[in-house]
Amino acid sequence: MVANNYHNGSFWFDSLDEPPDPSLPDALPDAVDVAIVGAGFTGLWTAYYLSQQTPDLDIAVFEANTVGFGASGRNGGWCLGTSNGLESMLDNPKRRDAGLAIAKAMFDTVDEVGRVCQAENIDAHFAKGGSLKIATLPFQVDALQQHVKHMRTLGFDADDYRWLDAQESQQRIGMTPNHGAVYFRHCASLHPARLVRGLADVVRRRGVHIYERTPISAIEPNIVHGPGGPIRADRVVRATEGYTDSIKGQRRLMLPLYSIMVATEPLPDEIWESIGLRQRETFGDPRRVVIYGQRTLDGRLAFGGRAGYYFGSRKRRTIPRDDPLVAGVEGTLRSLFPILDGYRITHGWGGFMGVPRHRRPSVNFDQSTGLGWAGGYTGEGVAASNLAGRIMADLVAERRTEITELAWVGDAPRKWELEPLRFLGAKSIQWFGNRADHEEFQTGKPAGFWGRMFNTFVG
Ligand SMILES: Cc1cc2nc3c(=O)[nH]c(=O)nc-3n(C[C@H](O)[C@H](O)[C@H](O)COP(=O)(O)OP(=O)(O)OC[C@H]3O[C@@H](n4cnc5c(N)ncnc54)[C@H](O)[C@@H]3O)c2cc1C
Repeated sequence: MVANNYHNGSFWFDSLDEPPDPSLPDALPDAVDVAIVGAGFTGLWTAYYLSQQTPDLDIAVFEANTVGFGASGRNGGWCLGTSNGLESMLDNPKRRDAGLAIAKAMFDTVDEVGRVCQAENIDAHFAKGGSLKIATLPFQVDALQQHVKHMRTLGFDADDYRWLDAQESQQRIGMTPNHGAVYFRHCASLHPARLVRGLADVVRRRGVHIYERTPISAIEPNIVHGPGGPIRADRVVRATEGYTDSIKGQRRLMLPLYSIMVATEPLPDEIWESIGLRQRETFGDPRRVVIYGQRTLDGRLAFGGRAGYYFGSRKRRTIPRDDPLVAGVEGTLRSLFPILDGYRITHGWGGFMGVPRHRRPSVNFDQSTGLGWAGGYTGEGVAASNLAGRIMADLVAERRTEITELAWVGDAPRKWELEPLRFLGAKSIQWFGNRADHEEFQTGKPAGFWGRMFNTFVG
């Protein structure tokens, strides 16, 4: 029997139809056409599109734990049609066209994920209900309305971004306070573990072999180093995001940043009458230390918040329910929804995402060495990993398409600083963000100094 330290601690893993135990390791191959390292969304979307377009390829996915063990099986389930770094591209006249191309591709990506779920019979509880960014302080109303206007001037329409006044917003979501919200249409709620495990089943049926409990220690052109020695591969794709430093020589490419989630017990109908979210809209607010929530198909509130970074990029396999970080996120949830008083939090967990130095996704493939990697979604990877996987499949197959022209391609970041600078930088940003948010909640006014410090570091 397989020891259960392959459970990632999430509600999502707990609520699968079958326990997420890894299969027993098979004998590893000597050689494959394409080796993919990591069985999260990035690796599996790459395998999905490659195996669809080039069925003869011998594709192997090597996964250190079990399918979906990483961020893909523990996240907030926002399949969000935008990506990190996009707004600063749109704000820069020189990069605006490139940004608009990514924006359009990301809108389409949400529909593409829904389409694949339907076509492949993956019951990932996909519901495209849009997303609400709620003004929890009165002064945020103006800033959010300005944002909607700004998006209109860039060519987006009322169907994409819409301002809901306080009354409309409160009808959508009974969160307190609620002074109005931006409604963004291009977002779906989903059950991430059902999606990632469902995708694995689909690619397995197509002949892709997924080797679980198979850590890869090093990658070089035409070779991946597995537990039993080298495996030859014409092309190698690394899809390890926040875990990238597990590969030799890749220590400073991604900073593992923690996020923590909780899920309530299933809530009765009368509670949902008050909370709303009838279309299963996802929700958050403009605070700097991000929060995010969704109504699950089985009637729970799943809710999360960003947590931070550990010195030396230390990684915790799982975050237990009784961790103080979980209590912090539970406290935020209860303050926004006092109606939850008396209802239990049944799950608390956490995980980390990969943050590259420039904090935006990229897809990289070097035809001369056959080596590629994708990731760096910085907490917005559920939809973005689908687009990245499609791009990667085209690059690996040497197909030039509209999406291989997107600005993500070849936009590799520089490395993170050595410690202790990395730790000091990450902690300062977190501290400035917390300070600025706290000041705004205390005073009801925009944070001055701490807000500016945060903006200077984060942009
Ligand atoms: C708590 C939390 C909430 C989030 N919420 C959202 C959200 O609501 N919406 C959103 O868009 N994004 C969200 N994200 C981010 C999103 O989950 C990730 O961006 C996305 O899942 C990354 O997918 P991936 O396949 O690139 O990486 P991962 O899912 O992390 O997969 C990497 C895989 O590689 C394996 N691996 C690592 N090292 C090796 C090795 N050496 N050899 C073999 N295998 C290896 C790991 O075990 C893992 O399974 C959240 C993340 C977290 C942690």
